[in-house]
Amino acid sequence: MTDDDFAPAAVSHENVMTVADDRFAPGNVAIVTGAASGIGRATAVALAANGLTVLATDLDEDGLADAVERADEIGVDGSVETHEADLTNDDDIEGIVDAAAELGDVRFVANIAGLQHIDPIDEFPVEKFDLMHQVMLRAPFLLAKHAMPHIRESGSEAAGTSGTGAIGNMASIHGHTATEDKAAYISAKFGLRGLTQAIAAEGDGTLRAFSVSTGYVKTPLVTEQIPDTAAERGISEQEVVEDVMLGDAKVKEMMEPVEVANLFVLGFSEHARHLDGGDLTWDGGHLYTY
Ligand code: NAD
Repeated sequence: MTDDDFAPAAVSHENVMTVADDRFAPGNVAIVTGAASGIGRATAVALAANGLTVLATDLDEDGLADAVERADEIGVDGSVETHEADLTNDDDIEGIVDAAAELGDVRFVANIAGLQHIDPIDEFPVEKFDLMHQVMLRAPFLLAKHAMPHIRESGSEAAGTSGTGAIGNMASIHGHTATEDKAAYISAKFGLRGLTQAIAAEGDGTLRAFSVSTGYVKTPLVTEQIPDTAAERGISEQEVVEDVMLGDAKVKEMMEPVEVANLFVLGFSEHARHLDGGDLTWDGGHLYTY
């Protein structure tokens, strides 16, 4: 097994889903967290390819620059604007929404930033637990808190577009089921699905919320946990991928980041008008077969 086995496909016009939607226009802004890497970066580029202005945010400035570079390389109808921020800092979180509002009508938020730590509960560092819950649950709550008033004020009554928008939250199959050594991740993702439903409950059907749950996607978050999982379980790295990660799935392939990005495109589009509080479970058969 080499690193090439995990190399993701570059985002291109061929693999990005494009949707005809009047709200996918440069005057409308989508905030994307975790946009410096993996799923977040692909989502930032895919939404810009659909014509939106994207406020791409992350801790990692260089990674954000890569997102802009990719958007420029493929030539998007919208744009990717970058904003460095730390999702553990409340002022930074408010600053993300303020910066997005400077760019246009804030309509969409994709909460994608995340991190993983592998340890059994009795050895799990409590500061790691807190950090993971801050980034993957508290920050999405705060971003929703600051962004929802903007979404409600967006659009025009005459065009029938007032107050329409959506918040999409990146959950996981581990927001549905549990495995060993991931207590912080699993509890944050279950919580994030609950938050999604809470946003939908307050969104009046025009401001929608949805979550996205996938199995394993070709990103650094996954490839970097393979050695730890192997050590933890006393098995080879190959066995981690084939038996642990994809063992319970029917589709024996990791997903591409752009395939996940396309779920955010779908979820934000008017084709998903009835997706409200629900989960896009793209799990390759992991959860519903045995
Ligand atoms: P990734 O490691 O490639 O990207 C995560 C990004 O989050 C990084 O750019 C990182 O800098 C950013 N981030 C972390 N802490 C931050 C903070 N405090 N402030 C701002 N940004 C911060 O990971 P990925 O695989 O693309 O994961 C993205 C999301 O998808 C995560 O929420 C993850 O749980 C979820 N997910 C991933 C997979 C998978 O298999 N890769 C599967 C299901 C769900």
